[in-house]
Amino acid sequence: MPKRFVDFELYLVHVDPDNCDGCEECVKICPTTVFDVSHVAHVINARACMGCRTCEAVCKSKAIIITEI
Ligand code: SF4
Ligand code: SF4
Repeated sequence: MPKRFVDFELYLVHVDPDNCDGCEECVKICPTTVFDVSHVAHVINARACMGCRTCEAVCKSKAIIITEI
């Protein structure tokens, strides 16, 4: 039986708390459950990130940085 390899991508999700104003747009737009907001946004489920970068696009404070590793 030949070995089988599965490709996967992993994304680092960072929120800069000094720039976040707690608007919750990232929570609303993320198709999974990466963020929670209590005063400022927190990453609560980084492994759920699919790398769509929609949160980066909607964050008017530029507080979110997505890095593919
Ligand atoms: S969209 Fe940006 S500013 Fe708004 S809660 Fe999320 S990280 Fe904070
Ligand atoms: S890149 Fe997409 S899946 Fe990942 S946290 Fe942002 S909106 Fe959610």
